Amino acid sequence: MNLGEVSAHCYNITTSYLSANNDSAIIESTKVAIRITRNHFLQEIFPRWNPFSDQISFSYNGGKDCQALLILYLSCLWEFFLSSIQVSQYPPEYHLFPLKSLPTVYINQAETFRTLEESIETTRSRYFLSVYESPRNQTSMPEAFKNYLEHNTHTQAIVIGIRYTDPFGADLKCVQKTDSDWPEFMRIQPLLHWSLSNVWSLLLYSNEEICGLYEKGFTSVGSVNSTIPNPYLKRSPGADRDNNGLKNHFEWEIRNAYGKEEPTDEVRVSAFSSSDAKILQEAGTLNYYPGWFLIDDSLERAGRARR
Ligand code: FAD
Ligand code: MG
Ligand code: MG
Repeated sequence: MNLGEVSAHCYNITTSYLSANNDSAIIESTKVAIRITRNHFLQEIFPRWNPFSDQISFSYNGGKDCQALLILYLSCLWEFFLSSIQVSQYPPEYHLFPLKSLPTVYINQAETFRTLEESIETTRSRYFLSVYESPRNQTSMPEAFKNYLEHNTHTQAIVIGIRYTDPFGADLKCVQKTDSDWPEFMRIQPLLHWSLSNVWSLLLYSNEEICGLYEKGFTSVGSVNSTIPNPYLKRSPGADRDNNGLKNHFEWEIRNAYGKEEPTDEVRVSAFSSSDAKILQEAGTLNYYPGWFLIDDSLERAGRARR
């Protein structure tokens, strides 16, 4: 595979999702969300910052939101490529996809889970990300980006997987300048209108491998010291019959996931590191329902607390 091929693959995922023969409320609203994001990329963002130059970078921390956004970004990149060669007399296979790797920035500030680090490595090669990794523990987030821009002087805009329901997310816009205490560049935030259930619906349908922490009950991942599995997903003894009243809202997406030949309940997650298993075991937090069992946006960060 190369970046063009994985972009085409992501395009096929979103196209297949949009034609899904299922009218659950979550899937319907996710289709609307996908179309809005797609319009942002194709009509507003790519015509302004050429995605085949080094004007745009992608901010990536291995989380579910930026992975869902990455799938959409690559899908749109493929569409943008197809439209750019439309005028040519030669069929698509005669055109070279103009990008070999995607400029990506990961601010590696705090101590992270080994499972997340390994999953970032997997996605790095899966999606041909050329990851700039900031030196750990050296800088604040704005300083780290200042550093990034000093190394990548052509960067004008950075894509961010933030949503309205995130802390301080409510008043953000899809395209806006950074605040005055940040280095100056354009923030590109085309996932703002996505709910937690939209993110899970697309991600689980995509059949792409996701970070293994989510299967262990994490819903939002911060540093090792500040994140535990979501308490609302704790399995209580003997309550397995009714899943504590929790329901998997994504059975259809999982069973009919893109590229599955037979419907199965398997979700592709990255390997769960034994060192993280030890951390969770010591904290007594090993027995949780998967993160995607939680779809209430207001509870997404309930696992963010000091141990
Ligand atoms: P998460 O869901 O963890 O993150 C939301 C998204 O932020 C991720 O999908 C990813 O795209 C990006 N992101 C988060 N952590 C990292 C990381 N360690 N490395 C790389 N990307 C990451 N705040 C301001 O107040 N003013 C600003 O002008 C401003 N500009 C920003 C510009 C960029 C490029 C980024 C990435 C962040 C900026 N922020 C700014 C901070 C932003 O609003 C969020 O607070 C921050 O991204 C953390 O998100 P979260 O942990 O709440 O949510
Ligand atoms: Mg998030
Ligand atoms: Mg975060």
